[in-house]
Amino acid sequence: MDKYCVFGNPIAHSKSPDIHAAFAAATGQQLTYEKRLAPLDAFAQAVQAFIAEGGRGANVTVPFKLEAYRLANALTVRAQAAGAVNTLLFDEHGITGDNTDGAGLVADITANAGVPIAGKRVLLLGAGGAARGAVLPILEHRPAALVIANRTVATAEALVQQFAPLGGEGVVSACGFAGIDGRFDIVINATSASLQADLPPIPASVFREGTLALDMMYGKEPTVFMQFAAAHGAIVRDGLGMLVEQAAEAFHGWRGVRPATAEVLAKLR
Ligand code: NDP
Repeated sequence: MDKYCVFGNPIAHSKSPDIHAAFAAATGQQLTYEKRLAPLDAFAQAVQAFIAEGGRGANVTVPFKLEAYRLANALTVRAQAAGAVNTLLFDEHGITGDNTDGAGLVADITANAGVPIAGKRVLLLGAGGAARGAVLPILEHRPAALVIANRTVATAEALVQQFAPLGGEGVVSACGFAGIDGRFDIVINATSASLQADLPPIPASVFREGTLALDMMYGKEPTVFMQFAAAHGAIVRDGLGMLVEQAAEAFHGWRGVRPATAEVLAKLR
């Protein structure tokens, strides 16, 4: 049995073992996947111990994505661009770091929600780790415009500097929440405001009838962002589809097989 796990702190809430068990059963892959609580000051040691036990790969969640980025001795292009790692692969070359969050987000928007990004106006709220990981995968789908709005404008501007040479020239721009101008086809909340039941102070005029509004957060109830967007005509989605899709992308990287996601997502809901 090949061994995989997810590292985090806390980790009890993680749905990843259920998701990967379902993928393994559906694709006939022989593997185990468990939760591992890594001590806050000993993430690298926890990873090394897992490798010594024969671990083949791992997912990484809060608060270790930056540490995982530093620990990897090779990085995929998208992990490099994201500056964070959520997927580790262990083999004879050492530790490879990947970031599947952005690809998961884009797969959820385009395949699950059925909304193409090409030619669309996209508003990305937030400029933290999750937002940074989303920029390159969004740009690869050639949106007409990608506006990154953040509470701290300088952080959003730094993302524009980083991604303009990577296909974002003339497409990506930055502003504060008060400076958001015009309507958007897709609005993504990549701030952590929903965790405190906060709404980023965005104008309702960003939404039109049928705008796709996606909050990366997920839970039992719609977030305040989802409620606000729905009240202004948007079609809303939480981050559960993104979670399942980033897991599928990680599974593909480890096993070379892409699992179907629809059934797993429906079961989680
Ligand atoms: P970070 O801590 O790296 O970034 C937080 C971002 O939110 C920053 O841009 C910050 O702005 C902004 N922010 C925080 N509080 C507020 C507020 N009250 N009002 C407005 N903006 C605020 O977090 P991550 O990028 O790692 O995560 C962001 C969200 O995405 C979380 O909710 C997380 O759960 C979710 N997520 C979901 C995934 C999934 O698979 N569904 C995967 C990864 C993340 P500033 O720069 O000004 O501080």
